[in-house]
Amino acid sequence: MDECIFCQIASGKMESFKVYEDDDSFAFLDIHPAAPGHTLVVPKKHTADIFDIDEISLRRLAGSLRHIASKIKNAIGSDIMIMQNNGRAAGQIVDHIHFHVIPRTEGDGIGLMRGMAELTKEQMEEIQNKIKEASSDD
Ligand code: 5GP
Ligand code: ZN
Repeated sequence: MDECIFCQIASGKMESFKVYEDDDSFAFLDIHPAAPGHTLVVPKKHTADIFDIDEISLRRLAGSLRHIASKIKNAIGSDIMIMQNNGRAAGQIVDHIHFHVIPRTEGDGIGLMRGMAELTKEQMEEIQNKIKEASSDD
């Protein structure tokens, strides 16, 4: 896709701080890092999100993702958070699937808002059943 920023980065048309590349995937530093070493891992082939990518490509990407996460862990000596957003409300800005690999250190203040939606036992059971019984497009 010509207009996609991450396609342009993966093909080398647009500059990036590349940290890894193989036949199918590409990894580069996020331009607005949450922490030094914050890296984005993308497939070279354009796919929008987790629902768009085929399973084989996703498995390959997962292999590269773990490899890169391990390199970052060793390079920085940090723990690692992996994040992936799908859709605007989830925080997805770039519509080319990407995994954020974020080095984490104690007290860095980055994190999920856990406990934002405390539910009663009945509400937990209701949402549990709704998810269990929902259809999947996969
Ligand atoms: P999202 O919010 O879609 O999960 O994350 C998109 C990420 O891409 C953001 O963290 C943003 O900083 C990064 N980003 C957007 N444009 C560019 C760019 O041109 N170059 C690089 N290296 N990162 C970008
Ligand atoms: Zn793309």
